[in-house]
Amino acid sequence: MQSHVSIAIDGPAGAGKSTMAKMVADALGFSYVDTGAIYRTIGYFIKLCGISPKDADGVNRLIDEVNIRVEYDADGVQHMILNGQDVTGELRTPEMSDYASKISAYPAVRAVLLDVQRDLAASRSVVMDGRDIGTVVLPKANVKIFLTAASEVRAKRRLLELQQRGDKKSTFAQVLADIEQRDERDRTRAVAPLKCAADAVVVDTSALTIEESAAKIRAIVAERLGK
Ligand code: C5P
Repeated sequence: MQSHVSIAIDGPAGAGKSTMAKMVADALGFSYVDTGAIYRTIGYFIKLCGISPKDADGVNRLIDEVNIRVEYDADGVQHMILNGQDVTGELRTPEMSDYASKISAYPAVRAVLLDVQRDLAASRSVVMDGRDIGTVVLPKANVKIFLTAASEVRAKRRLLELQQRGDKKSTFAQVLADIEQRDERDRTRAVAPLKCAADAVVVDTSALTIEESAAKIRAIVAERLGK
């Protein structure tokens, strides 16, 4: 029997998963688990080790040496601890998106991170966002949402987010190409590809504002949790 509640929000890059997941987590007092940050931490480690993300042997050799922990500060904000160091501030860059996207296709990486994610969900009630949460990580999640939007809309939002973080270099064309490449890799990998779980509710946010998306998500969660 499940002792904690879990809510899975999956979907392609830039669909608004983290914004929606944080909103739901705050409203319910659950922990928000950003699983992309967990993959990015492995990507960052591989980079620190001077290994190419395309070097499958190199990544497989290193994956057992890595020690990653997910911690929450007093405000409930997730921090990624890599071999004892907080690396949270290093992860949300286009370079780490690319590393995470490439190393996430390796079965050995996914196997190690599967335990990290399941352990978290076993210890607390969570809203977890990612690509395979509803299909693989938490197939018994109480609520499953598949959040999507047209790739141009997602690229526009992602560019804005990068610019708000001080990125002056990225362009719309680059961000769009990056998102489409990552989606393609995520959808076509052999292990745990990005796909909608059979029992997930699909929400397309292409034509919705953040408030409209939030209202839809809130209604789905309330209905599914019976609250
Ligand atoms: O969500 P975010 O953009 O931070 O994820 C970075 C990359 O990590 C994705 O492009 C995807 O390849 C990978 N990922 C994954 N499974 C997850 C979360 C992220 O494969 N559950």
